[in-house]
Amino acid sequence: MVLVSGKEVSNKIKDEIAVEVEKLKKNGRKIPHLAAVLVGEDGASRTYVNAKVKACERVGFGSSLVKLDSNISEADLLVEIEKLNNDTEVDGFIVQLPLPKHIDEQKVTEAIAPEKDVDGFHPVSLGKMLLDIPSFLPATPYGITEMLKHYNIPTEGKHCVVIGRSHIVGSPMSVLMARNSYPGNCTVTLTHSKTQNLAEITKAADILIVAIGKPEFITADMVKEGATVIDVGIHRIEDSSKKSGYRLLGDVNFDEVAPKCAFISPVPGGVGPMTIASLLKNTLLAVQLRD
Ligand code: NAP
Repeated sequence: MVLVSGKEVSNKIKDEIAVEVEKLKKNGRKIPHLAAVLVGEDGASRTYVNAKVKACERVGFGSSLVKLDSNISEADLLVEIEKLNNDTEVDGFIVQLPLPKHIDEQKVTEAIAPEKDVDGFHPVSLGKMLLDIPSFLPATPYGITEMLKHYNIPTEGKHCVVIGRSHIVGSPMSVLMARNSYPGNCTVTLTHSKTQNLAEITKAADILIVAIGKPEFITADMVKEGATVIDVGIHRIEDSSKKSGYRLLGDVNFDEVAPKCAFISPVPGGVGPMTIASLLKNTLLAVQLRD
């Protein structure tokens, strides 16, 4: 069994980006700048945003954090987004999801200028992905393709089963795995909560990508011997023995599934760091596409 270490791959990607930033500096060009919008005080969201800001520092990007009150109106949030769209210092920005219930996430996503949409959630970015036009790929699926590439995991002709059809993970993931490229050229089955006989389908998977949002849902009896398993889930489980007060679990029961796998990504240290690395790659791409 090979551990697919997103931590290791993301560090390599960050090193490569840092080299590109140095080149930009040397040539007197603008340093990429990523901004993040955080609405409210959700603990997990704050952790993710802080990690993104820290990653910017690590590669030499500029970064800024726009912190907004959870009571902000949708109209006022849209004004903040318009400011970032027009701010020439900012090359790309993200609005950390989820947003408070009174704000329409789709409306907010569509308000982001497509050329600054480094999360890759805007309809223009998703449409370009479908048409194989270079653009911002959604950060998490993009990160997963980079992990598969790094470990030379064969994909052509393989049966890839994706669990979950969210707009940010499962659906784009299924598109990328079916594309005529590497990684890709898989026969893809996209499953969701209405899927019947899920275990029969997952047992037929050469590559199983799990984005269901249920801790340790995938057990050993659902996985084929020799499969590649990529675990997207992140769950904070209260644990008083930890300094942080919690531990992280994925959507896969790692301990029982890992011995059956050819490749498996852990949680933490798997997909999470890759999502951040992809965000940085997209921000660099924003500069490259513009210049
Ligand atoms: P989501 O929007 O909640 O989507 C979950 C998907 O799972 C839905 O499509 C749902 O089907 C499907 N599902 C639910 N129960 C099922 C069942 N019993 N059998 C088959 N499918 C089922 O979640 P998400 O945003 O994609 O995130 C999934 C997980 O990944 C979460 O734990 C999230 O925290 C994590 N995540 C991690 C990263 C990272 O960087 N590592 C990034 C994003 C998300 P329906 O469509 O029918 O409801």
